[in-house]
Amino acid sequence: MDLSSLARLDDRITGCRACPRLVAWREEVARTKRVAFADWTYWGRPVPGFGPHDARMLVVGLAPAAHGGNRTGRMFTGDRSGDVLYAAMHDVGLASQPTSVSADDGLELYGVRVTSPVHCAPPENKPTPAERDTCRPWLVEELRLLRPSLRSVVALGAFGWQSTLTALAEAGLAVPRPRPVFRHGARVQLDGLDLFGCFHVSQRNTFTGLLTPEMLRDVLRTAAEAAGLPTEP
Ligand code: SF4
Repeated sequence: MDLSSLARLDDRITGCRACPRLVAWREEVARTKRVAFADWTYWGRPVPGFGPHDARMLVVGLAPAAHGGNRTGRMFTGDRSGDVLYAAMHDVGLASQPTSVSADDGLELYGVRVTSPVHCAPPENKPTPAERDTCRPWLVEELRLLRPSLRSVVALGAFGWQSTLTALAEAGLAVPRPRPVFRHGARVQLDGLDLFGCFHVSQRNTFTGLLTPEMLRDVLRTAAEAAGLPTEP
């Protein structure tokens, strides 16, 4: 896979306007802003995947947050979910720094890319089934482009899990039927690639302790090892 293909894909994603409700929402949020970010120029567009073009590991979330990725233009950047995710990635040696506050903060990911099945912030973090399906070809294409190097995928939450399995099947991988069911800690082997399930890093899950930093680190470390990436103990 060459860099230009994935860079071109990212570029095409940022210009997408296929979902009228999400286009209206992301742009309205960008206009009205949150008081704390009043001096920001919000991104207000689809947020492409973030990470190296030859990633061996992929983390798949749900969709950008209205005042996170939709503000900063980078996946899981500028919100509480991202704080939890990147801190854990840094702890296990997958990220250059534990924080992710803006697209130009210098954060680098090592061998791992972060993406989502829906690239625009949805109201209440809930895309409709039609929006999920409309956005799927972007994930399918990303998986196809990453396929030569990709060895593991971590799906965050049931939405990420189901979307990833469908996209992997459309990208040409043999996915078992019936489809494996999501659970935290699930591991499924598919065509030379391991899929891992992990509770989503949402505030609801992390504030309630359903997902602890240790649980997240464990899944990330196992997935990194499955991908042949060096990890921190
Ligand atoms: S959610 Fe996906 S398909 Fe819909 S407008 Fe955004 S990038 Fe396009």
